Amino acid sequence: MPHATTSDLMEEVSRLRRRVGELEQEHRRIDAGEITPASRGPVGLSNNQSDSTHSLIDALPCAICECDLTGTILLANPAFAALHGYPQAELTGRHYTDLVADHQDRDACRRALEQLTEEQVSSYSQETVHYHQDGKRIPVEVKWRCQRDVSGKATELLAVTTERRTAKSSRGQEAELAGQYFNLVREMILVVDADEKVSLINQHGCQLMEAAENDIVGRNWFDHFLPAERREEDRYFFQRMIQQGAVQPVEYYENDVLTFKGTLKRIAWHFSILQDESGTNIGTLNVAVDITERQEEQQMLRQNRQIFHQISENINELLWVSSADIQKIYYLSPKYEEFWGQTCQSAYDDPRIWVERIHPDDRESLLQSMNRKIHGDFSDKNFPQFRVVHPDGSIRWLESRSFPVYNDQGEVTRLVGIIDDITRRKQDEDAILKVNEELEERVRQHTSELARKTAQLKALFQGLPDKVLVINHEGEIVNFNGRHREYLFSDRDLSTGSKFTELLLEEIRLPFTEVIQRVHSERKKESIDYPLTIKGLQRWCRARVQPYLQDEILVIVEDISEQKIAEIELNKIYEKLSEAQRLAHVGSWECNIAGDLLWWSEEVYRIFGQTPNSFKPTYPDFLETIHPDDRAYVDSAVAQTIEYDLPYSIEHRIIRPSGEVRYVHERGALKRNAAGEIIGVHGTVQDITERHKAECKTQEYRDILAHASRLSIMGELMAGISHELNQPLTAMANYSSAMKSRIEQGQDVSDLVQRIEALSHRSGNIVHRLKSMAEKRPLELTRFNILDSIRSTLQLIEYELRQKQIDVQMAGESRMSVVYADRVQIEQVLSNLFINAIDAMSEMPVSRRLTIEVAPAGEFMVRVTVSDNGPGVPDDFVGQLFTPFTTNKQGGLGIGLSLSRSLVEASGGKICFNPKSDRGASFDVFLPCSEMDEC
Ligand code: ADP
Repeated sequence: MPHATTSDLMEEVSRLRRRVGELEQEHRRIDAGEITPASRGPVGLSNNQSDSTHSLIDALPCAICECDLTGTILLANPAFAALHGYPQAELTGRHYTDLVADHQDRDACRRALEQLTEEQVSSYSQETVHYHQDGKRIPVEVKWRCQRDVSGKATELLAVTTERRTAKSSRGQEAELAGQYFNLVREMILVVDADEKVSLINQHGCQLMEAAENDIVGRNWFDHFLPAERREEDRYFFQRMIQQGAVQPVEYYENDVLTFKGTLKRIAWHFSILQDESGTNIGTLNVAVDITERQEEQQMLRQNRQIFHQISENINELLWVSSADIQKIYYLSPKYEEFWGQTCQSAYDDPRIWVERIHPDDRESLLQSMNRKIHGDFSDKNFPQFRVVHPDGSIRWLESRSFPVYNDQGEVTRLVGIIDDITRRKQDEDAILKVNEELEERVRQHTSELARKTAQLKALFQGLPDKVLVINHEGEIVNFNGRHREYLFSDRDLSTGSKFTELLLEEIRLPFTEVIQRVHSERKKESIDYPLTIKGLQRWCRARVQPYLQDEILVIVEDISEQKIAEIELNKIYEKLSEAQRLAHVGSWECNIAGDLLWWSEEVYRIFGQTPNSFKPTYPDFLETIHPDDRAYVDSAVAQTIEYDLPYSIEHRIIRPSGEVRYVHERGALKRNAAGEIIGVHGTVQDITERHKAECKTQEYRDILAHASRLSIMGELMAGISHELNQPLTAMANYSSAMKSRIEQGQDVSDLVQRIEALSHRSGNIVHRLKSMAEKRPLELTRFNILDSIRSTLQLIEYELRQKQIDVQMAGESRMSVVYADRVQIEQVLSNLFINAIDAMSEMPVSRRLTIEVAPAGEFMVRVTVSDNGPGVPDDFVGQLFTPFTTNKQGGLGIGLSLSRSLVEASGGKICFNPKSDRGASFDVFLPCSEMDEC
């Protein structure tokens, strides 16, 4: 192999390996976000050696020492330390030349190192003597080389020290050492010659490429071990380097390789150009690390970071990461801008800026809490809550939870925190607090109210006028007030816990025991009225026994003596009233305005032939009991009373359940309460069946009497009537004779025919009147004109009037002359009055006058006044005028006026003597008008 010496090669490999370590570390830090690619500066070996580099140097069998550019030892490996008899750590910091025994060698070394640093020489070898720790001298050969970064700047010095005895032993031993070295390292070491063939690969390289050394060495690297897609590009780059020389003394890059078995692996490369003594590029020395797994880890890390960002930027909480002393903020999720109203960048730039927005009242306690954490005190389990005041004055309540992040040594390296917006929660808490306070206030008020009421109730309980006791389920007295114990108990001691029934007065024990048992079991209230003799006086008590609370009962005893006495009195009155009603056949009734409730006194039931047990009257039921012909009449009377508040008084028939028809007189009126409101209708009903029968009988007798009277009048008028009849008949006979002679003479007889016809009508009328008067007939009310009746009656007495030379004067308005009465009977009355007047005036000198006047009397009556200018009625006789069988006349019966009164009243009218007339006698007959429109 046309390489430099083994120690040169080894040296170069060491350098490359350190560089790979540095770059790997650098990449890791970039990936971890600790430094940005832009901020990445040149990485020096002296201060930034990775652990892996250390371990590699430590593992080397040759003595190696790393120094800074002044020659101060940065690191001495175990072999170096062992050679000099020092513990490894003691050598760090010492100047290398301190180890050199000869001061001339020391100076030479210093100068050489300066030259190396200034690039005046690329390497320096010195055979010299070092001191052992125990003072012995060690002959050594030291090879110095200067390490440089990518820009060519010197970074450190590396010394490989070999005991001269050993170094000079043999080249074979040196080669063996190199071989051991190659095979010890964890990296792949690979030499690719200028013809692209692999000329050297170490054991680790064979493992990485999954092949034996023989399968790799001699093969074209690009053709066999690079994936086709990258192959030509890499080959081109390689050839350019070989042909044009190294662009940079040290290069790093990553690419994929194909192992012998075809596995694709990601490799991080560091390489340098190998030159022969003449300076010709003969190949590249490559140190490679399999970063497949690391890349996967990085990929995973990236994904995790992405997930972290997604989560932290989408959750409602603010996530932050800072240094352990909070002097540096590494991460703030975007929620910071919403919570604080400041940009995240402002907080990155000034890690204390967030404090400004904390509410002054909360700031101190929050900072104290943070300080405790900074000083490693995480014992506080409470999460600080604080307010952030935004520039617009709005306030957010936040809650911070922070946690330490420890490294392997248990030191806090980071603080991580989550900040929650608890404004809503705080508002809710405030609202709940407020409601709670209100509730508490209400409870306080209610409690005091309750206490007040309880006190009131207690006072009330004691102050109740009645005796009150509470008894439990066992029948024991639980509570009692101090009122009238004598209503229940004898003189025995009354105390809570005593058995109630045992203390009771003997005479009331049994009923009380039964009632209390029932109330206990059925939980329904009951009452007992009982008499007692207290201090010689009869008293009445009423005990109300009712369920109380869960299984207790309440006994309230009151003195009802007055009520009871009133009740008894009332009953007596009621009984008397019933008796009175029974005797008078008058019942009383009441009906509510809706008509669905009708109350009847006992007598009403009797009148209607019903009993209270079998018949519960309602207004429709009541109507059903009325004779069908009278039902509408009764219903309309009741309806009018309700509508117009007009009391009614009517007579109608009812039909008892037995079918018997009874006559009743019913009165009704609206019933009002104390406030004057209408609450129903009330009234009386009287059984007038007997009276009605008597009246019928009376009417019958009156009709008979009237008939007899009419016959008597007819008898009295017979002479006049026969004259009145004879006169037209004679005239008719005379006219007939005249007609006969005129007919024989051929003369017109039409005037005579007319006269005969008029005379025949007149006689017909008289006969008709006589027939009506002679007829026996019952009362018959009709509408007729009273003036016609007067005229017709005068016609009957016309003969007497003429005979007695009585002048008849009639005055009247036909407008008010239609009456509703029995015409025959009224005409009978008029006849009687006229005849009495004629009789009275018969003894008078001539100038006799009968005056008949018809005039309205109020709205509903017509007055007929019959006056004469006779002697009049003596004052002492006026009171007896209408008394039957009282007469002043010779041959008089004395029933004319009394019968007239009866007949007029039967027609609903009235007759009376008029005492006001100056002369003669005057009688007024009042008759009901027919109807308003005809009056
Ligand atoms: P009578 O005519 O049968 O006596 P009345 O009952 O008709 O019975 O009359 C009773 C009495 O009243 C008469 O007897 C008479 O004395 C008196 N009386 C009736 N009408 C008049 C009258 N117009 N003038 C004076 N006295 C009269």
